[in-house]
Amino acid sequence: MTPPTTSTDWQQRYAAALMNSFGPPKLVLTRGSGARVWDADGKEYLDLLGGIAVNSLGHAHPAVLEAVATQLGTLGHISNFFASQPQVELAERLLGLLGTPGRVFLSNSGAEANEAALKLTRLTGRTEIVSTTGAFHGRTMGAVSLTAKEAYRAPFEPLPGGVTFVPYGDAEALATAVTDKTAAVVMEPVQGEAGVVVPPRDYLAAARRITQQHGALLWLDEIQTGVGRTGTWFAHQNPALFDEPFVEADIVTLAKGLAGGIPIGATIATGATALLFEPGNHGTTFGGNPVAAAAALAVLHTIEADDLLDQVRKTGQALSNALAAEPGVSEVRGEGLLIGADLAEEIAPAVAAAALEAGFIVNSTGPHTLRFAPPLILSEDDVAAFAAALPGILAAAKEAS
Ligand SMILES: *Cc1c(COP(=O)(O)O)cnc(C)c1O
Repeated sequence: MTPPTTSTDWQQRYAAALMNSFGPPKLVLTRGSGARVWDADGKEYLDLLGGIAVNSLGHAHPAVLEAVATQLGTLGHISNFFASQPQVELAERLLGLLGTPGRVFLSNSGAEANEAALKLTRLTGRTEIVSTTGAFHGRTMGAVSLTAKEAYRAPFEPLPGGVTFVPYGDAEALATAVTDKTAAVVMEPVQGEAGVVVPPRDYLAAARRITQQHGALLWLDEIQTGVGRTGTWFAHQNPALFDEPFVEADIVTLAKGLAGGIPIGATIATGATALLFEPGNHGTTFGGNPVAAAAALAVLHTIEADDLLDQVRKTGQALSNALAAEPGVSEVRGEGLLIGADLAEEIAPAVAAAALEAGFIVNSTGPHTLRFAPPLILSEDDVAAFAAALPGILAAAKEAS
């Protein structure tokens, strides 16, 4: 019997062996390098989604490869009965980047980073949380209780309670919803899954003021927006998005891009919030493991050494400009390399399909919205290649719809 080699064969085996939680996969990928990936049939794609804002340095980056291989060959996993140097260095580095003294809890995913944060908020003695419409905070029971989308919540109710949702970007609604019983307000500085929604420039400052008035925590979910995605380390410290002085949050959660593709989550807490967890309150077997921490340190080092924040601002602008120049595109939102593009017609899934046909991975977050979250190493040539293909992609999608 000859082993299966085509994408179609792998698709069939996938369907027979994996739970159907994601629908049929669009591609079967075998290899990646830089901002490019190849499928099981040998076809090449420019990856403008980056594993959903995860592959900060692209695929198979030598710095991540070297950090992971060296760390794994030195000390791979030790449990949290013990400490490792990369774990300590990473926590220090994250606090340094945030610029506020605090403490870090390391975990393995975005949802876990938010679960830890949610448990922290309970230790304030209050149980009510204010979240926002359109919010995405993850799929575990605690994280999904903060996530707005009804389809994600309804099948799993009852969820942890006490969560109310206010319109995102509306400071007045927030002021009405927050009371002296509110433990925390949780929000994304820019909403990612909702299709890259940017709030007013003074929204975070208003949220800080309102939470402070009521003794509630401000918790910023930077899982998608953090680690250079918008052209600064944290989106809430991006002058292109928010007025200065930037707010100091009580909790900031990170994950996606932090370790360049190695699973990781980080819950950073500042001030008194940083000291709420005591031994026994929370735990994780894999969290803070030396390999993931070493990968994250390599990512952070490379972003700085290669001046990638500056590059992200430039390539992000070029990609935004290319999208805005298309007659079929009605609005472009976002900052740096987190970009949402609304289409004049409801053909976003068809555009994503036509883009794949043409060798580009893009994501549709809704019927008329495309999202781009490419590797931070994306080059201006890559942007130009996509810009050149875009009119043909839109035409093909229109024809198919
Ligand atoms: C992706 C995401 C999460 C969940 O992260 P997972 O690693 O998928 O659990 C939470 N919040 C935001 C803003 C995200 O983009």
